[in-house]
Amino acid sequence: MGHVVVEASTVDKLIERAQSEAVANPEAFARSRLGFLVHGDDSRINARFLGLAANENDEFALQLLDEMQVPFCPCGNVTDLCSYSSGRAVLKRAQKLSAQCAYSVRRHDITDEWLQAAIVEGHPLTRKVLHDSVSPLALRILQSAADLGLENSSSWVGSP
Ligand SMILES: [Zn+2]
Repeated sequence: MGHVVVEASTVDKLIERAQSEAVANPEAFARSRLGFLVHGDDSRINARFLGLAANENDEFALQLLDEMQVPFCPCGNVTDLCSYSSGRAVLKRAQKLSAQCAYSVRRHDITDEWLQAAIVEGHPLTRKVLHDSVSPLALRILQSAADLGLENSSSWVGSP
């Protein structure tokens, strides 16, 4: 379940955006790892190649993912459950938010230990991070329930 894509429409938009960026900036695309992976053919850009390129620190792919706020995972997927809800993802999200906003904590001060303590204290940054990481998990559970044909929550809470 970890590698299930939870936001398919986001992935579609990302691929469209990557293809138009490849056409708009052919030189950057040709130099990029993504361009190499798809043999220079923008029509071959897909989520798998974007995830691979991002994991190889390809600036072209990383910039697109960052701009569209699409998380990627060390497993090579984009917008899969682990890219939102794994421990690594939660830490990455917290560091990113601290760099963007006024949460009165510096990006490099955010470690697993800091996060654990801040969650206990109810720090505003951790509330936002937990919301962002738990929502895709909840969405996936609802999708699974729907896939199983469970019509509403009372039917899978387990009545005797
Ligand atoms: Zn993953």
